[in-house]
Amino acid sequence: MTIIDRVVEANSIYATLGKPPQPKLAVVTCMDPRLSDLPGILGLPEADIDVIRTGGPAVTEDVLAELIVSNRVLGTTEILLLNHTGCGFTTFTDDELNARLSASTGDASPAPMRFFSYRDPEQNTLEQIEKVRSHPWIAKDVPVRGFVFDVETGLLHEVQSVPSHTAA
Ligand SMILES: [Zn+2]
Repeated sequence: MTIIDRVVEANSIYATLGKPPQPKLAVVTCMDPRLSDLPGILGLPEADIDVIRTGGPAVTEDVLAELIVSNRVLGTTEILLLNHTGCGFTTFTDDELNARLSASTGDASPAPMRFFSYRDPEQNTLEQIEKVRSHPWIAKDVPVRGFVFDVETGLLHEVQSVPSHTAA
């Protein structure tokens, strides 16, 4: 029995409440299982969070489109970009993985694939904030904040794009 077979079996006894959600916060985070308990990590009910998950996470054009729908259509009012330590996407580069897969499969036709590998979660977060903040369809009054989740401690560390205590 595959894992998906077990999922299908378990789902047959799963009953939902069917209450329509009214999400308040959009969260972009990694596909890493340690980021799955967002209600626990963020202390919010599941129904309050629109979750957009990608590897990394990477803020792609698709993610930007989803954030815009989350804000403009579904009603979220804030955006939280949630990176983490120990991410699998920091363990390779796109070039390396393209080369490795081309060699191991003997088929280089999909290359170069964009895997959105990165080196530093803080830097990744800064770039994401900039990317989201500068999009003309994300309203200027929507707070966009970025954090790194420490997988060792479970604590969030905010990444600031500008020094909060700039001397006047
Ligand atoms: Zn990750």
